[in-house]
Amino acid sequence: MKRLAIEGGVPVRSKLLPYGHQWIDDEDIAAVAEVLEADWITQGPKVGEFERKVAEYCGAKYAVAVSSGTAALHAACAASGLSLGDEAIITPLTFSATANAVVYCRAQPVFADIEEDTLNIDLKEIGKKLSPRTRAILPIDFAGHPCDIDEIKALAEARGLIVIEDASHALGAEYKGKRIGSLSDMTIFSFHPVKHITTGEGGMVLTNSEEFYEKLKIFRHHGITRDKSKLSKDKGGWYYEIHNLGYNLRLSDFQCALGISQMKKLDGFIQRRREIATNYNQAFAEMEEIITPVEKDYVKAVYHIYVIQLRLGKLKVGRGQIFEALTAENIGVNVHYIPVHLQPFYQREFGCKEGDYPKVERYYDGAITLPIFPKMSDEDVDDVIEAVRKVISFYGNG
Ligand SMILES: *Cc1c(COP(=O)(O)O)cnc(C)c1O
Repeated sequence: MKRLAIEGGVPVRSKLLPYGHQWIDDEDIAAVAEVLEADWITQGPKVGEFERKVAEYCGAKYAVAVSSGTAALHAACAASGLSLGDEAIITPLTFSATANAVVYCRAQPVFADIEEDTLNIDLKEIGKKLSPRTRAILPIDFAGHPCDIDEIKALAEARGLIVIEDASHALGAEYKGKRIGSLSDMTIFSFHPVKHITTGEGGMVLTNSEEFYEKLKIFRHHGITRDKSKLSKDKGGWYYEIHNLGYNLRLSDFQCALGISQMKKLDGFIQRRREIATNYNQAFAEMEEIITPVEKDYVKAVYHIYVIQLRLGKLKVGRGQIFEALTAENIGVNVHYIPVHLQPFYQREFGCKEGDYPKVERYYDGAITLPIFPKMSDEDVDDVIEAVRKVISFYGNG
């Protein structure tokens, strides 16, 4: 057996392989350069063009580009009217931005535990958390595997709740043959460099509702409205009014030019991610120390991340040691995510505590994210498989 790098052996790779990475090519650079030499660099014609591209790809009527995925969540929460006294049901297994957005609107996040197979929010757990104050549900499509949105929507419609889908992981994913992006009241995407396409920072809200669309645009631009039918007076071309507080959440034109260029490559990116996931699934199928991700037959998952779960009963060490050992082999592993209810802020402000959500906590104890991104070569994929085999067989107790 080869000696582990953590014990002074030779690492599988000489240089660190990150867990995620953008793909920027000459075409992307040329697209950005063209805008930098044009008249508009902040919000200009490329913003609308990018919005139409994404909306069309996802089958949604309207799209509003904003400065980040977090800004998209914030805008969607605000447009849904979420405010003081309201509750929003969310999964603890998400990036904390999902919960933070609820808090930005002064509403209360209420967590509901996950399904153990898909790792998405569990409908039955949502049912237990409903109250007269519930106003919205924010499911996420964890790792790019769509949540069971029909069931969540049926529950929401029966109760008059708004569904804001955090699809930061799921651009291009499909649910029952339909692309994610038009299935919820509002769907949000992130264009952070580790996501499926990037604009540096950036995000978008998609919706089929004209009412939400108008509210989102106003919220993105300080709350300013120039729509004559809404103004209390007509004072002239310079005049506008602010009826509700907004922010500056605008995305710049050169970022949107990058986004448009990236959209051309999206299907190829997804295909490569799915290929890598298939290779991992096959390589790890025989290893009883590891649980690999599921893909339900009614979805097409897009593998924003590839998470393995360790069966801790079959290992001599915990996740921490496996994580350190893989890092020493120069495999850039990560953990997605520390459940939000374990964050000190959420414990202090909302009274959450350890033990509240046993399924997500059990998941978290054994979860490790392996590298997956379109630019990975076949050799990179083989290195990850070799390192996982090396480390797991060393620490396995079988
Ligand atoms: C990335 C991400 C966000 C936030 O996106 P930013 O663009 O980084 O602000 C929100 N929710 C989830 C689930 C994410 O993965």
